[in-house]
Amino acid sequence: MRNLMGAERGSHNAATAALAPFVLSVVTWRRGHLKTGEALMKTIIEPFRIKSVEPIRLTTRAEREARLKAAHYNLFGLKSDDVLIDLLTDSGTGAMSAAQWAAMMRGDESYAGSPSFDRFEAAVQNLMPFKHILPTHQGRAAEAILFSILGGVGKNIPSNTHFDTTRGNIEGSGALAFDLVIDEGKDSQSLHPFKGNMDLEKLETFLIEHGDSVPCVMHTITNNAGGGQPVSLENIRAVAALAKAHGRPFIIDGCRFAENAWFIKQREAGQGERSITDIVRDCFAVADGMTMSAKKDAFGNIGGWLALNDDELADDARVRLIQTEGFVTYGGLAGRDLDAIAQGLTEIVDEDYLRYRIGTNQYIIDRLDAMGVPVVKPAGGHAVFVDARAWLPHIDPLAYPAQALANRLYEIGGIRGVEIGSLMFGRQPDGSEKPAAMELVRLAIPRRTYTQSHADYMIEAFEQLQAEKDSLKGLKVVKEPRLMRHFTCQLRPL
Ligand SMILES: *Cc1c(COP(=O)(O)O)cnc(C)c1O
Repeated sequence: MRNLMGAERGSHNAATAALAPFVLSVVTWRRGHLKTGEALMKTIIEPFRIKSVEPIRLTTRAEREARLKAAHYNLFGLKSDDVLIDLLTDSGTGAMSAAQWAAMMRGDESYAGSPSFDRFEAAVQNLMPFKHILPTHQGRAAEAILFSILGGVGKNIPSNTHFDTTRGNIEGSGALAFDLVIDEGKDSQSLHPFKGNMDLEKLETFLIEHGDSVPCVMHTITNNAGGGQPVSLENIRAVAALAKAHGRPFIIDGCRFAENAWFIKQREAGQGERSITDIVRDCFAVADGMTMSAKKDAFGNIGGWLALNDDELADDARVRLIQTEGFVTYGGLAGRDLDAIAQGLTEIVDEDYLRYRIGTNQYIIDRLDAMGVPVVKPAGGHAVFVDARAWLPHIDPLAYPAQALANRLYEIGGIRGVEIGSLMFGRQPDGSEKPAAMELVRLAIPRRTYTQSHADYMIEAFEQLQAEKDSLKGLKVVKEPRLMRHFTCQLRPL
């Protein structure tokens, strides 16, 4: 069996060479594979073994075509039993460790003042030095609470790229959401090492133009909706300084903070010798608050939090928390969930884990790239992003080429990805529709869940897809809700 990441050191070196104009050097790249005093091994393995397994069910292509039709060509409508490799999301789908399962037994379900909350709060504050930590059942609940206070008609909120639920919560409050990522972040082939960076000039102009109507500046690390691309520490600090100069609170959407810190360590000048924990602390030290989904870089199956420094804002948020989620020491969670997250936060900053995780992504992307499939480069943190606009130029963006591609990938291999393009972002607040910045299919890799042969199977499915791609047709939306339509809309092939 070929090894998940292994194998071709050449491809790592090629990636390094391509990034050479930036701060990367062969030395810092290799540092990612080396432990001090140890020889360089070509093979990087999953840093865990398997204690408990879940079967997955094989289906035929004809079965899958029927299932997809019954789901109105929306992959969110499928039963997960009918999916072989589920890359719909890396959210809450990771495998918990033995230590996390053990921690769950320590969970204290007291309504108020549970020690599980104390452990949760301490684990968060160990990495993110915020004064107030409010547990929520998911990241979007933290967003909903924050924007119920800071949002509203007439408000304008910038970010590098708002994630879909963030945009939904902002727009749902009547405010407007703006994406100010650097231009390289919209070019799937640009090899800029920090394609999630905010465009500082655009942000400054925005802050001057919109003045008091800007209740906060957000920054998403890594930039999920922009290809899972990282943000540099330098950029985080520069955004914080701009927000401060204009008197605006700076809030980080920190869902993939550990992956982002790994990229900072690998790619940013002067960061290569620092620990992930120190880098993480530096990122959050300059912020006034954060929203977080613990289903990402906390190894939780559920959970999230809102963190704030401002006492008054935190008081308002706590009232809202009690109204909508639960008492302040459990939010929307069971005590056992708080303990699983507390333990998960100690595991997520492990460098062996991060090296393996990012290496997996690199392995798949290198092979798809070699095959001629246009993928977002360089590799991001949590997912492989295929550029459907480039691969399927015969499908109009408003006929959702990325949805057509994701659907066919399911029919071919039972692999479920998700469209991140005009279906997700094309509908405008005024009801009109315009093409999104990119038409991507995201294949998100659940944490510690799939193995090398799953990765190879996926690559083989793409070989089949390449043979069929010219026959793919676009789709039309036949039914949709008012907001975040991609989750529940119904489609029909053209
Ligand atoms: C997942 C995610 C969210 C929302 O978190 P949920 O736990 O799914 O509600 C917000 N922002 C980003 C960047 C995310 O990836």
